[in-house]
Amino acid sequence: MTREEYLERVDKAKRIVFFGGAGVSTESGIPDFRSVDGLYNQKYKYPPEEILSADFFYSQTAEFYRFYFDKMICLSAGPNAAHIKLAEWEKSGKLSAVVTQNIDGLHTDAGSKRVYELHGSVRRNTCLHCGKKFSLDYLLASAPDIPRCDKCGGLVKPDVVLYGESLPNEAIDGAVNAIMNADMLIVGGTSLTVYPAAGLIRYYNGNPDNLILINMTPMREFKNSLCGKIGELL
Ligand code: NAD
Repeated sequence: MTREEYLERVDKAKRIVFFGGAGVSTESGIPDFRSVDGLYNQKYKYPPEEILSADFFYSQTAEFYRFYFDKMICLSAGPNAAHIKLAEWEKSGKLSAVVTQNIDGLHTDAGSKRVYELHGSVRRNTCLHCGKKFSLDYLLASAPDIPRCDKCGGLVKPDVVLYGESLPNEAIDGAVNAIMNADMLIVGGTSLTVYPAAGLIRYYNGNPDNLILINMTPMREFKNSLCGKIGELL
């Protein structure tokens, strides 16, 4: 599809839902997983899927946190043009929700209010023993050591969904409801390979012509797509 056709459809839409992934934040300087300079193509002692799994977190907590502090937290990153455009659409009443697989909190920083964070957020952290909540700053203050609760000494874990863990119910319910009621679904900056999150786009039952992919890597299953940087094309 041409960008003009895309812009015409966006203009007519009233309940856009955006479903995104790590590619939405690469223009903010946060590496994704599967691009050439993504985390999967950098060399670590263990593959990222293994480090970011629940089993690894509990069995090799210090190693998990070394990787987490080094690669998953990017304090200098701010919202880019894509995050900002989505927040503007919501404010003007065009967009009903952002559904994201990202854990970086940049949609909220851009001003988006209805954001379903399917994989949680680095901004929220919880003591596994007493349930006390902690900010990202608290976690970073202990880096590179394992963060411990200041109340009970328990292990503090980021509220991010690790491989092997279930997605938060409220985020799934909110995302499914928004997608089912959308009149346009824009999928962008994602390889659609991480399940069950990727499967949620099947709930879209609006006009098939308004199911649109914006991605650096094209995908055959999308009839309507724009190929390139999301910050420039959205
Ligand atoms: P992915 O790395 O598997 O795929 C990213 C996709 O985005 C690729 O298809 C790539 O071609 C595309 N892309 C990269 N930059 C782009 C750009 N500027 N414009 C348009 N497309 C671009 O990412 P995924 O599908 O989200 O799956 C990875 C998992 O890793 C997710 O579950 C997510 O939670 C997590 N993750 C999150 C962050 C973050 O929070 N920023 C970063 C890395 C990984």
